[in-house]
Amino acid sequence: MKDAALRSLLRDLQDLQFDREGKESDLEILLDYLEIVAVAAREKPSHLQGQGMRSRSLLQAIQRVAEAHGLLVMQTGVVIPHFHRAPHYDARFFDWERELERQARTREGQVLWVYRDADLEPAIRAAAEGETDVADVLGYPACCVREYNETGIRISEALFRGYQTEYGAKDLDDFIRLAKEHAKVTIPPADRPRVRHVFPYVQFSPCRDCAESSTSPAAELNWAMKRLATRVSPAFQRALEKAVKAEIAFRKQQSRR
Ligand SMILES: [Zn+2]
Repeated sequence: MKDAALRSLLRDLQDLQFDREGKESDLEILLDYLEIVAVAAREKPSHLQGQGMRSRSLLQAIQRVAEAHGLLVMQTGVVIPHFHRAPHYDARFFDWERELERQARTREGQVLWVYRDADLEPAIRAAAEGETDVADVLGYPACCVREYNETGIRISEALFRGYQTEYGAKDLDDFIRLAKEHAKVTIPPADRPRVRHVFPYVQFSPCRDCAESSTSPAAELNWAMKRLATRVSPAFQRALEKAVKAEIAFRKQQSRR
């Protein structure tokens, strides 16, 4: 897509009317728009809309605009986390958890994928099912996606250990009962997710190595997205900067509480 077409896509996205449902920050919405423009500009294979606490109404509005601009769209179930390794505990409990996740997913509605190339569809389906991770289809660094997934596995392991040490769980039934009761467990600081807000123009959490270097894969993507925003619309890039500042101020305020 030429820059004029990208500009027209961005304008239509920015003109969208939708119900925020109280779920999204300005920054998240603007980054959704930037990612979709990046897909159209061939800088990113696909964009994922609607994962987590996202507005349904925004998802429907984005679907209409993306289709009108010749992009492909597909709905799948909410993305199931990918396990690059099995957690270090009873495989039967792990199977039970995965099954529970699948059941929960059927109640959670759909997410929307925006992409250009129909050949990507099998890879999108595999990522949505948790068979592969999302790095390739979303164009995110494999190191960052892997560290994020590893954090999820370590939390599962910390929960399992907590059921043993804090509740004396021994057999499968104990673990299942505690999980159903959402029994509270202390997660050691080393296993807690660390959110690093160093690259405001990307929607993934950078891994530790990437966060510490301004030439890492995550950093390069951040600069590329910033360049794209500036090229397509300096006013849009300024709006993004403003939203970044507001987000940082909001986080500071939250952390003082
Ligand atoms: Zn990384």
